[in-house]
Parts: sequence; structure tokens; C-alpha cells
Amino acid sequence: MFKSIYPFNGETVAEYQSYSPAQVEARLARAAQAYTALQQTTLEQRCNWMRATAQHLKDKATAYGTLITREMGKTLKEAKAEVNKCADSALFYADHAAEMLEPRIITTGARASYVHYEPKGTILAIMPWNFPFWQVFRFAIPNLLAGNTGVLKHASNVSGCALALEAIFREGGFPEHTFQALLVSSDHIAPIIADARIQGVTLTGSTPAGRSVGALAGKYIKKSVLELGGSDPFIVLRDADLDKAAATAVQGRMQNAGQSCIAAKRWIVEAPVVEAFTAKVKTILAQKVQGDPFHEQTDIGPMARPDLAEGLKKQMDQTIAAGAHLDMGGAVNGCNFTPALLTGVHPGMVAFSEETFGPLAVITAAATEQEAIALANDSQFGLGASLWTQDFEKARHLATKIQSGSVFVNTLMRSDARVPFGGIKESGYGRELSLEGMHEFLNVKTVWIE
Ligand code: NDP
Repeated sequence: MFKSIYPFNGETVAEYQSYSPAQVEARLARAAQAYTALQQTTLEQRCNWMRATAQHLKDKATAYGTLITREMGKTLKEAKAEVNKCADSALFYADHAAEMLEPRIITTGARASYVHYEPKGTILAIMPWNFPFWQVFRFAIPNLLAGNTGVLKHASNVSGCALALEAIFREGGFPEHTFQALLVSSDHIAPIIADARIQGVTLTGSTPAGRSVGALAGKYIKKSVLELGGSDPFIVLRDADLDKAAATAVQGRMQNAGQSCIAAKRWIVEAPVVEAFTAKVKTILAQKVQGDPFHEQTDIGPMARPDLAEGLKKQMDQTIAAGAHLDMGGAVNGCNFTPALLTGVHPGMVAFSEETFGPLAVITAAATEQEAIALANDSQFGLGASLWTQDFEKARHLATKIQSGSVFVNTLMRSDARVPFGGIKESGYGRELSLEGMHEFLNVKTVWIE
């Protein structure tokens, strides 16, 4: 059984029976049939279904937002924004899929030579609970448009979202079984990855989960995309717009109760402005309202599970024991973790070296700009980074020195359908979104005609 629990008060929302091997087999067979049927449809038809899916999401944003909040605890306003982001990204891809899938002509001297992008079959998506709609949509939109079918193994605490997602694509008009949920636990994933009908696997989640799924995908020679954890630096240089930087740092760290792979997890601040920056973030943090995620004035809801809150508390305590100072917050009650700020954090301390997945901000001072970049790169992760400086040329130069899949300067690090998203180092490999995300699970076929 999978249990969905409302994190704010621990109430059981629903229970779901996990699928038997026979039920999984039936769904994989249907996914393969749906793939064959999907090849008879045109891209224009699929784009129209995607537009209808977007409209459906917008019409039902409150209902789906409520489901998300009940299952994983983010505020209703964040949940509705997530649903609307899925809709907007679906519309973006529906408008640009034709140009993204256009054959790429290569001049070789042959009569014709070009790259033709073709779907491969059914792709398995293993997804986390933190953005239970968006993580799934950013995989599903380009793949369904390109003609792949999808099966979803969602996190065990968001089964209601998994089943809703299956229904949403049907509502948009996609043929039955184009996109299906598989209610299975991670212990039962190996035979699914091994199955010949699965042509690729994408996982968003922790590094240990990525290691396991990546190894299985390699064993069975399946293409994989891994979007794993991060410990993104938020680098504030001495010439930064401090007001804007402070407001964005708090937003970047505390949104989704800090449970985002691209949260601003390490605030690295140049020494001359560290005091002023610290004072500003403390003022902003003190104004944040934590509480009932359904209340309009609540900024920070509960964390998704009590074990995650306890794990974060342990990381915080270990960091304090190593010499950091707790400036504010850090009280834990069930899933509710008061937004916390640690100062005097250095490399080697847990909150610097490990991913912290919750509302815990840390400040590390850097003597110089060079030291700030070295600190930013002192991590096994390399997902995103946010850099703050008003010097445009310096920004362009330093962006090349930061070891990450993205650098956003003077703004929030975020995922946006127009630009590729993914990491390096232990943050994973492959890309989602934009043109690169569209091509990950396609056969990039060379055609050469003399
Ligand atoms: P997990 O990585 O364990 O879960 C993410 C997804 O992967 C879930 O669907 C989970 O299924 C599945 N999964 C886990 N292990 C395996 C496996 N060995 N084989 C196949 N699938 C697997 O995240 P947690 O929920 O346990 O969170 C723990 C930590 O992971 C967080 O504190 C955070 O650091 C990181 N994380 C990062 C995310 C990101 O966006 N990069 C998202 C979520 C978590 P099931 O639920 O059934 O175990």
C-alpha cells in the first residue's frame, strides 16, 4: 500500500494499492500498443492535444493545486503556480515542436544528407515528490509531442498526483495509454528497466537513487537522463545590488520549503558586504510566515515528510557542533521546520558539503572574488548557480569559471522551458527542456542519400 499523508497535520489523505506484476505487465503492453498507434498521428494533432491539456490544467489549477498541497505540503499558491507553469510550458512546446523536430540538413556532397529525429518507444520516468506535477510535465511534454509514450513511477507519497497526471493527458485528448502511472515501489523497478519495451529512463531525485537507476540503465543498455541533487552556490560580490540579492536569496532558498534541487543552498558572500547582506536577509526572513499551506498569507509550508525534517535538523546540529552559529529558526515540530539561518559556515561542515533539502540558509564569507568562485566549485554537485555583480564583463567571465549546468546572473536560478536544464558532476547528466531536452530520448538518425 502507498499512503498519502497531509504533512501539515499528519492526517491520512488516501491509500493506494501497489500494482501487481501482472498489472505492470498489462500497462507495459498497452504502452507499446499506444506507441504504435501514436505513430499514425501527426505532430499537429499532438500539438493540439498538448494545447488542450494546457487549457485543462489552467481550468483546474485550484483542484490540482489542492491535491499537490494535500500530498506534499507546499503552499496552495505555490502549487497553483506549479500547475500553471506546466500549462505555459506545454503551450511553449506546442508552438515550437515543429522547428525543434525539423530535420537538420548537413552539406556533405551527397544528394541529400540530414539528421532525422524519430521517437524510440516507451520511456520510463522515475520522479520525486517535490514538484510532483512540474517534474513529470517537463519530461512528458517534449516526449509525447515527439511521439514517445511514457510510464511514470512517481514517489510513493504522491500517488494521487500520479493518477491525476495519467488522467490529465487523456483529458487533453491524447489516446488512451499514451501516458500511464505505475504504482510500484523502487524495489520493483529493475525488471521494468530491463523490459525490452522500455527504451530509456529518466530520473529526478537523490544521488543514491540516480546511482542505482543509472547502473541498471547501463546494464541493460538503455539511454538515461539523471537530474539529481544540488548544492547550488548563490554568490554575492561586493558590487552586487544587495537589496535585490538578499530578497532573491531568501526566495531561492525558502521557496517550496527549501525542497528544490536548484534552491540557493550555499550563500557565498564577499567579505566587505557580508555584514550588510546578513542584516538584510535576517530582516526578510523574520517577515516570512510559516504555517497552514492553505492560508493565503503563508509563505512557507511544512516539509513533505517528518523524516526529511529530522534529517535536516541533524545536518543543522552537526554544522553548529562544527562551529557555525545559528542566527535564527531551526525549531522542528513534525514536518514543520522554522526557517533557519546559519552563519560562519565553512567547507568541511555538513551544511556546506552535503545537500540540505529544506528551509535552512547558510552564509559563507569569501575574502576575494577568486575565493568566492573556488568556494562555489568546492562541491561534488554542479547543478545551478546564481551570481550577483553589476559588472557585465565580470559576470560573463566568471560564468565560465563556475562548475555547473547553469549560471543565472542577478536573478533567481530556475527552470524555464526555453533553456536547457541539468547538471554536471554528481548532479547528473543529460538535459531536460528546450531543444536539448526534446532530443534526449529520440533516435538522432543520420540519412545519407547518394
Ligand atoms: P529519492 O531520490 O529517494 O526519491 C525520488 C524518486 O526516486 C522516487 O520516485 C523514489 O521512489 C525513487 N527511487 C528512490 N530510490 C530508488 C531506486 N533505488 N531505484 C529506483 N527508484 C528509486 O528521494 P527522497 O524522497 O528519499 O528524498 C531524499 C533526498 O533526495 C532529499 O533530501 C534530497 O536531498 C533528494 N531529492 C532531490 C530531488 C531533486 O529534485 N533533485 C527531489 C527529491 C529528493 P520511492 O518514493 O518509492 O522511494
